[in-house]
Amino acid sequence: MRRDDPISALPLLEIRGLSLDFGTPRGRVHALRNVSLDVPGAQVLGIVGESGSGKSTLAYTVMGLLPENAHAIAGSILFEGRDLLNATTQARRSLLGDRLSMIFQDPMTTLNPVRTIESQMIDIQHHERRSRSEKRARAIEMLHRVGIPDPQSRVGGYPHHFSGGMRQRICIAMALLVKPALLIADEPTTALDATLEVQIIHLLKELQKEIGCSVLFVSHHLGAVAELCDRVAVMYAGEVVEEGDVRDIFHNPAHPYTRALLECDPGRIRQKTRTLPTIPGEVPSLLGSRKGCVFHARCTQAFDRCVQESPVEYSIAVDQVARCHLFDEQRLVSA
Ligand code: ATP
Ligand code: SF4
Ligand code: MG
Repeated sequence: MRRDDPISALPLLEIRGLSLDFGTPRGRVHALRNVSLDVPGAQVLGIVGESGSGKSTLAYTVMGLLPENAHAIAGSILFEGRDLLNATTQARRSLLGDRLSMIFQDPMTTLNPVRTIESQMIDIQHHERRSRSEKRARAIEMLHRVGIPDPQSRVGGYPHHFSGGMRQRICIAMALLVKPALLIADEPTTALDATLEVQIIHLLKELQKEIGCSVLFVSHHLGAVAELCDRVAVMYAGEVVEEGDVRDIFHNPAHPYTRALLECDPGRIRQKTRTLPTIPGEVPSLLGSRKGCVFHARCTQAFDRCVQESPVEYSIAVDQVARCHLFDEQRLVSA
């Protein structure tokens, strides 16, 4: 497709006004509220936020891997122009492992413990019209690419023959073997030690550039996000409160929550300390209705309006938006 073709300018993934609840005995948990995000082609979008902010729910909603008590109540998800929320099970299945791939935090979510790596890597290529031996050769080549030593003989091994770091490399190899248009990675490095994490992030970056796919990268490790991502969306209690270019978010954060999150990042703390800082206060309950700004109970800059009215999205820079009343132009003019 030509670059000046208007269709090629469309984002690969377009999420609009997505709201999703989980039904529970205590009532409905509003896990996502009015989430709108774009993932452009060949770009990496990082999703950050404290535990419970809805990062995984968003990733799993795109993949269509939600539990039965999940109910999307509003919005749309368009992937390559196709409506994912209303897609048939068959249409979804044909996208998974072809145009869409996922890497989970625990490699054993993907890997079957009683089957060899070889048979699993061959199976994942079921969309490809190639012979079994060609598929095997591609699997070995990909294992080599992700740094598995002696892949020719190790491809016949079972998952338990590999260390945790190696298993995650194998999952990356499997996810990218199908050359997906979009890779969704939910905390893929959280279970690994720091050295392995750096290696895996570099590997992901290299392969993403090589394949030209887009990545939705969920992590609460801000250093990894800064390293890998082009854009960042900051989530809090089910809402996207700020979004923008990775440099703007890290160097010029606008939303009080983003600023608080960055101040608590262990990677940014210069002075020696025994206790890591945390954002004072607690994440609000996701049950029941909500009034005002989602962050108002913890925000040091909150004022009257924040308790009454939910902020809309304000433009901060060319490529940065934040949901915070502080950026209402009328307020800025009258200040
Ligand atoms: P973490 O960083 O801990 O992985 P997260 O940002 O990925 O957190 P989610 O797992 O998406 O957060 O959870 C968002 C909210 O939805 C949480 O309040 C969580 O308890 C709730 N939730 C998630 N799955 C379910 C479920 N199956 N049933 C009910 N509530 C759920
Ligand atoms: Fe804080 Fe108000 Fe902005 Fe919310 S809208 S982040 S409470 S200043
Ligand atoms: Mg999660």
